[in-house]
Amino acid sequence: MLAATHSRALMASSSIPARHFITSLRTRFSTLASSLSHSPAPRQYTFTLFSRTTNCNSLLYSTPSPFRALHSASTNGPGSTLSTDPSSKHLHTPSPFPTSPHSQVLADGSVQVQTPPGLEGSAEQLFKVNARLMRDHIQRTPHPPSKDYVTLSYYQFRPIPQKEDLLKIQYFFLTDLRAMDVVGRIYVSAEGINAQISCPKDRVEDFKAYYATHWPIFDKIRFNPAMSEGKAFKKLHVRIKGQLVADGIDNSTFDIYNEPTYLTPEEWHNELSSQKTPPILIDMRNHYESSIGHFENAIRPDVTTFKENVDAMLDICKGKEDQEIYMYCTGGIRCTRSGALLKSNGFKSVKMLRGGVTAYGRYIQDQRQQQVAEGRDEEEVKSIYKGKNFTFDKRLGEPITDEVLATCHICGTACDTYSNCSNMACNLLMISCPACQQKHQGTCGSGSCVEMVQELNEKQKKIDKNHPGLRGMKARLGVQPFHEHRLRVRPLKVMENRRNKARL
Ligand SMILES: [Zn+2]
Ligand SMILES: [Zn+2]
Repeated sequence: MLAATHSRALMASSSIPARHFITSLRTRFSTLASSLSHSPAPRQYTFTLFSRTTNCNSLLYSTPSPFRALHSASTNGPGSTLSTDPSSKHLHTPSPFPTSPHSQVLADGSVQVQTPPGLEGSAEQLFKVNARLMRDHIQRTPHPPSKDYVTLSYYQFRPIPQKEDLLKIQYFFLTDLRAMDVVGRIYVSAEGINAQISCPKDRVEDFKAYYATHWPIFDKIRFNPAMSEGKAFKKLHVRIKGQLVADGIDNSTFDIYNEPTYLTPEEWHNELSSQKTPPILIDMRNHYESSIGHFENAIRPDVTTFKENVDAMLDICKGKEDQEIYMYCTGGIRCTRSGALLKSNGFKSVKMLRGGVTAYGRYIQDQRQQQVAEGRDEEEVKSIYKGKNFTFDKRLGEPITDEVLATCHICGTACDTYSNCSNMACNLLMISCPACQQKHQGTCGSGSCVEMVQELNEKQKKIDKNHPGLRGMKARLGVQPFHEHRLRVRPLKVMENRRNKARL
């Protein structure tokens, strides 16, 4: 997974700064002004202002008219899950999507994506519309209500060489999935798709059907459910990326479709637990992921990026072309890619865990439930994975077994709960125990972070009750983060550097 993906993922839990509220107000009024000054041509998108009152806040938002029907179906319609009328129940409204698929695979294997109606113009126009939709979804519209959600991850490598096709895909996901109240992160690239989303429980079947009917180009997707239910994201982001997982290796130098052998969690469990001498088993995740949980006997490279991990993997495997190589990651995408790299380099037997640690966690969970149903003790289920599975959403991890493998970065007591320093300008990814959290006000414990958070908390108290949108700001506006990504995930190193500086 991308380094940039990580930093963004790790910030998922942070709240939206106040300046967004102000910029969005400003944009709303300039949008109104521009829509008044030009008389819109037919079939071009125009912007309409409408307002809706929620319990806590009065929101105004504008939506381009071709999507208004879709959008208002999700926000204002009678069966809307966002409806403010407390008596209104969620009715199963007919799907607002057209029945023809958004994409198709042609006879020669190339892909074709439908042009969104009303947007037959240039790619530039589509780019602007998408940017606007993203802004709308991220800043302006209220969060979908917290109800029963399930979290799914999925990916597929599929060449989509045309940039314009990527924009069309982005547009359809933004409009269609928003109408289903889906939140999460979807990355599309010339290589394919990679996504982690949370979907309302009662819409999961619709969601899967939507992919099946509209996206024949993503026919190999396997939906991989997380272990715990609940909403893991606040908003919907659909982004176009250069690479789905960044290892810096050119796709033309190896065959990405020469995939490793996939083992189901059960096959993986049985094979690995029955071997007398431990095989070569590589953890393809970064150090901060594997430090809170990993498979027994796994080789865990001390790396901060996937690119470094691929280099480490090549080192570990050097000269072992005839041996069996096992590898795993969080959801499988990193192994599909690095496994193909090994296979293309002459390795005969490369096996990976299908669905990654997430799928294994579910397998163990199901086994335990079955044990209990049969009246036996759930403790009898032996997991060969110990500790937590690190996740790239606001939970920052879900437990598979109770073992605590890591320690608090501040005081050293046993702990495996990750959080970000509450000073957003620091944003250090750290393990901190409840006592340290309380003592240092959720920061990494450095004097400057504690001071800044205290100062901002005082300011927060003075914010007028009528402006709840300004609450939750945890950094001074315009303050740049202290650390580059590489250091941000090495809290012990950062803390040591600071101590050395203080001594000078
Ligand atoms: Zn501590
Ligand atoms: Zn800090």
